[in-house]
Order: sequence, then C-alpha cells, then structure tokens
Amino acid sequence: MDREKLQYFKELLLKKREEILREVAETLKDLEEGSENLPDAVDQAARETNLVIGLRLRDRDQKLLKKIEKALKKIEEGTYGICEACGVEIDEKRLMARPEATLCIDCKRAQERLEKIKGE
Ligand SMILES: [Zn+2]
Repeated sequence: MDREKLQYFKELLLKKREEILREVAETLKDLEEGSENLPDAVDQAARETNLVIGLRLRDRDQKLLKKIEKALKKIEEGTYGICEACGVEIDEKRLMARPEATLCIDCKRAQERLEKIKGE
C-alpha cells in the first residue's frame, strides 16, 4: 500500500478512535446523571441495569479501541492491510468500512463460522 493510502487510513482510524472515546465519555456521563435523578424508590434495580449496560458498552468499545490501536501500530510497522491469517492484501473497500480489520473477508467469515460453532 502506498504512503498516501496509509495516511488516509491512519486518519480514518484516528477519527474513529476519537469518536468512540467521545461516545464512551458521553454515555458514562448520561448514565451517572440518569441514576442521580432517579427517586430513591425507583430503585436499585434500574441503577444496576444502567451500570450493566454501561459496562457492556465499554467492553465492546474497548475491544474496538484495541483493534484500532493495533491497526495504527501496523501502519507504523508497514504491515497494515495484510490479512493476519493468510497474508493476502485486504480489500480496500473493506478497509474503508472497517479500517481496523486485520483479516480479509474470507478469513473473517471462516472465523465467524468457527465462533458460531463454538458458541452453540
Ligand atoms: Zn485472509
């Protein structure tokens, strides 16, 4: 991949990371404010539900953030856009939609099939 394209994807990744961080901050703020406004009687359960949602969201975002960090590192190392499993170049259209992708679409599908089998 040439430098211009790498730069483009780098910016895409940085922007995505910023969006996630902002969203996480806002969500956490909303959750805190939300539970403060609850009357005492309406109740511990609602507060806990909010907390669980917040944590789950953070877990998902954290995973995505880690992927973004990894992709940024790959750009520095010059291995960005190469499938980790089979070594082919990942389709650029795929990278535009998911700049943090580390697998080509075929390997990704294979992985998802495996996860589904494991999950069942
Ligand atoms: Zn692959």
